[in-house]
Amino acid sequence: MPTVTAAVWNGGGQPLRLEQLRLVDPGEHEVRVRLRASGVCHSDYHVVKGEWARRFPAVLGHEGAGVVEEVGAGVTTVAVGDHVVLSWKPYCGACPQCLRGRHVLCEVATRTGNLMGDARPRLWRGDQAVASMAGLGTFAEQTVVPESAAVPIDRSLPFEIAAIVGCAVTTGVGAVLNTARVVPGASVLVVGCGGVGLSAILGARLVAATPIIAVDLVDEKRALALQLGATHALDPADGDIREQVRALTEGRGVRYAFEAIGRSDTIEAAYESLEHGGTMTVVGQVPDGVRISLDPYAMSDFEFTLTGSNYGSANPAVDFPRLLAWYASGQLDLDPLVARRIAIGEINEAFAELATGRATRSVIVYDA
Ligand SMILES: [Zn+2]
Ligand SMILES: [Zn+2]
Repeated sequence: MPTVTAAVWNGGGQPLRLEQLRLVDPGEHEVRVRLRASGVCHSDYHVVKGEWARRFPAVLGHEGAGVVEEVGAGVTTVAVGDHVVLSWKPYCGACPQCLRGRHVLCEVATRTGNLMGDARPRLWRGDQAVASMAGLGTFAEQTVVPESAAVPIDRSLPFEIAAIVGCAVTTGVGAVLNTARVVPGASVLVVGCGGVGLSAILGARLVAATPIIAVDLVDEKRALALQLGATHALDPADGDIREQVRALTEGRGVRYAFEAIGRSDTIEAAYESLEHGGTMTVVGQVPDGVRISLDPYAMSDFEFTLTGSNYGSANPAVDFPRLLAWYASGQLDLDPLVARRIAIGEINEAFAELATGRATRSVIVYDA
């Protein structure tokens, strides 16, 4: 049982605290991974802020990449020394959802809190179990995860980029390619230009959507959206989003809208910005208890479709390498998404930065 340094969340709005925890050895179909990078995602911040009820103490973090150091019995898909992106949706491969190719909806992973197998705790503080967010807990030097949560990648790829493919990039690009299946030439609206929204813009550019209309309150995020491929960037301070979108689309609205914040008012505005026959995809993660109010008449009369996307409807074993191949070939410009590289001891500053709404991703870089 190795001892690892981890940033532990002890409940409430308390700052994370660096502690030494014991990490279990990998069991059957499990691997031990030394983290090399971990993104700090808004979903971690939801937990810290108390917007999602979660067990504590816990090690948060669910967007990681690293190197496999040990494999348990029966592991066949990864080997010691492999560079891997971690997936927060492992899968069994045998349930009805897996069998029809919907790996992110795996019933076994849902039932076991993404731990799979015997769902035993991975981390211990003395005799107290410490939870691992999404079965990963990437705010730690090492983790033990199910084999299907460790996807091998090309060893030449930078770990910081690999890490953000583990959540934000797959979520945003996947929502466009896999969930909505945006076609070339279609109009796209993306509301919210954090890591996920910017990734949706990259996905829209990849499939040659046009126009690609970005919305964000923050000047620097709108500028980044334009840099990454948005054709227009709207400031909600300049007037109602619905009206601004219609002004750009000859009064029609957009064929595809994506909400990447997780607020009821922006979900409603994105839905009401659709053209007839359009599809609105909820990608943003809403706090517990949020409800939306929509006019269902638009569904029957204008054939509006409202749908949602979890983890970009991805099959991580296929999508992670595919996204990273597009990065390597220059077709997916992921470098600007990493705003800051930090040490694990600076994690609370990264949350403070998220609270301002300004920054895109901070990525923790671990020593080799
Ligand atoms: Zn995330
Ligand atoms: Zn399954």
